[in-house]
Amino acid sequence: MAEDAEGFLYPKVDASICIDCQACVRVCPFHNPSKEEKPQSVYAALNKNEEIRRDSSSGGMFTILAEKVIKDGGIVFGARFTDDWQVEIVPTETIEDLAAFRGSKYLQAQMGSSLALAKKYLQEGRKVLFSGTPCQIAGLRHYLRKDYDNLLAVDFVCHGVPSPKVWKMYLDEVSEAGQRAISDIKFRDKPQGWKRFNFNLSYNESDKSYTISSYNGDNHYMRAFLSNMILRPSCYNCQAKCERSKSDITLADYWGIDQVHPNMDDDKGTSLLIVHTEKGRQALDFSQTTYTESTYEDAFRFNPAIEKSAIPHPKRADFFNKLDSTKDLLKLIDKELRPSTKQRIKNFYYWCRHKAKIILLHLLGGG
Ligand SMILES: Cc1cc2nc3c(=O)[nH]c(=O)nc-3n(C[C@H](O)[C@H](O)[C@H](O)COP(=O)(O)OP(=O)(O)OC[C@H]3O[C@@H](n4cnc5c(N)ncnc54)[C@H](O)[C@@H]3O)c2cc1C
Repeated sequence: MAEDAEGFLYPKVDASICIDCQACVRVCPFHNPSKEEKPQSVYAALNKNEEIRRDSSSGGMFTILAEKVIKDGGIVFGARFTDDWQVEIVPTETIEDLAAFRGSKYLQAQMGSSLALAKKYLQEGRKVLFSGTPCQIAGLRHYLRKDYDNLLAVDFVCHGVPSPKVWKMYLDEVSEAGQRAISDIKFRDKPQGWKRFNFNLSYNESDKSYTISSYNGDNHYMRAFLSNMILRPSCYNCQAKCERSKSDITLADYWGIDQVHPNMDDDKGTSLLIVHTEKGRQALDFSQTTYTESTYEDAFRFNPAIEKSAIPHPKRADFFNKLDSTKDLLKLIDKELRPSTKQRIKNFYYWCRHKAKIILLHLLGGG
């Protein structure tokens, strides 16, 4: 795999030994998108274990699925941080190890040898839960080339994956070129609630521990990620979104739960479960959860990322053109994300209109 100028990894074929069998093209989910299929059923659910739900990004339903597989003697593949705060997909056979998989890491996880290992376990007849982005699951399916009864594939609604180069530069800047030893990172901390999640980075310096904690809308990396400025190019035209998902179950945040099923919302995280297959339905054990059946239309209404790819930020190209020459990544992000003068005038107009409405209502005795 070789890194491009934006820091994304792509396979590099050694033409001198390639036999031109086209196997790599056949397993590529981008070249071979599956046909769209409507899901079987949709649920809103949350894990009754409050500690697990706190450490999970949504309602902690991934852990429910994973624990069941491990208790049945199976193996779970999930994403965890490496020592240098990148992310990799690895297998585990223990419930304790699931803690490292909990929580979304907004990075592209390296697959390493996970595909080959999963195939080996499946051929040995072991139960395997493989979790990853929709394109990683589609890649797994194409790589396996046949369906295995003992495989449970779990993906999630995916906003897209950001540039590893920007992440490395961000870490370098906040760790002051490695002088601060990073001890923990949480992309989705919930002290102010699940809907207003924080980005947390903890580090040690001079024998003291510190945590930088910021609301996601104030954190530079999260702003660049959520505004679609640093996503992988293929994420803007995703070929593995929900109705084309090759997974048995898709997990997500049940955004809009306060309007759709208000009794399922305590702002500590509610999962959306989209079940695509009979195998997925059978894997669900709701005994440790609070849940209700829902509809695809309701879920989609508040979470368009289920089907729709991100739209590139208009300054994306400009940002990457300037990335190598910048000495201050945070300043560059600020500059590129600053709204244009036209947008600022528009925002100011809407702000004035909103205030005027409130004053008018007040004067008219409307409260
Ligand atoms: C990059 C990314 C983008 C996402 N975008 C959206 C979105 O737009 N809308 C939405 O509703 N939900 C999105 N999610 C999913 C959501 O944040 C939760 O991960 C999901 O709802 C499962 O939550 P949980 O509480 O059940 O379990 P959690 O414990 O929070 O989930 C952990 C699961 O996520 C996997 N995981 C974590 N990070 C990665 C990674 N980098 N690569 C591969 N797998 C990973 C773990 O292996 C495990 O399977 C995204 C997640 C990621 C990682």
